[in-house]
Amino acid sequence: LPIRFDDGPDASSLTGFAGNRLIRDAEKRDSGSLAAALADAGARFFLLVGGKALVEKRDGAGRALFSRQEADAFAADLAAAVLLGHDQGVPTLAAPAAVPETQILEPLWLYDLRSLLYSSSVGDADAGAIAQATSLLHWHQMNRFCGKCGAASLSSQGGYRRDCPSCASQIFPRTDPVAIMLAVSGTRCLLGRGRHFPPGWYSTLAGFIEPGETIEDAVRRETFEESGIRIGRVRYHASQPWPFPHSLMIGCFGEAVSEEVRFDAVELEDCRWFDREEVRAMLAGTHPKELKAPPSKAIAHHLIRAWAID
Ligand SMILES: [Zn+2]
Repeated sequence: LPIRFDDGPDASSLTGFAGNRLIRDAEKRDSGSLAAALADAGARFFLLVGGKALVEKRDGAGRALFSRQEADAFAADLAAAVLLGHDQGVPTLAAPAAVPETQILEPLWLYDLRSLLYSSSVGDADAGAIAQATSLLHWHQMNRFCGKCGAASLSSQGGYRRDCPSCASQIFPRTDPVAIMLAVSGTRCLLGRGRHFPPGWYSTLAGFIEPGETIEDAVRRETFEESGIRIGRVRYHASQPWPFPHSLMIGCFGEAVSEEVRFDAVELEDCRWFDREEVRAMLAGTHPKELKAPPSKAIAHHLIRAWAID
């Protein structure tokens, strides 16, 4: 049988942080990658100050990439730099910068990741690269010592590995998979309201995939634990890099095979079935009670939209 592929762009490409266009050249990384990139006078740097991206904003347009001279002026820690990849042959790096936040004055701004996601002043390509940078730099910060023998470990392969000089262990960056799913039953879908959601918001359910678990089993388990609903068949739809700090959202549809919702009141304030017309009103912003679906950068939005409209 021929494999059936969907036409058009990946559904994933519609989500926030999915616009990263850097050429990673993963197979070319070696022990000299970082030094070679730093020696390139044209190298450009994303700078993270206290975990927030430095952006120069003029007339609404943001610039998040800085030259080596600028990186030095902002006290970038180049020993902790990582090589994200290349853009038309130009090495693109990221480094933590020690410039005090009190010295960040207009036209300079600091953007946390959520602001970056919903701001139009930094393009999708840079927002995606900053997500890559944030996840990778956070991983370095949390893995300074070898988990096996406790010795200080050293960054290697352009920042894509840490090596232990004492026991020769190699440690690789982690990505934590999260299942995020829309349970559907005919013309209805299941949405929940988390305890800390903005007013009126309803979204899909989600949870971390555990060691030794398939994506499908995680979809079934998380949906049942949070809502009491049993899921049968599962279909993958799209994914989204989620740099809080280094997750990958894996978006699926799940076919509900039970009806009665018994939601987990610790995690959720509400969880119920919504018919398609009500969901369309939420997406269009015309719901009579002002209920809303998540915004368009969120993968939850695209799961809901794909089911309700497309
Ligand atoms: Zn070790």
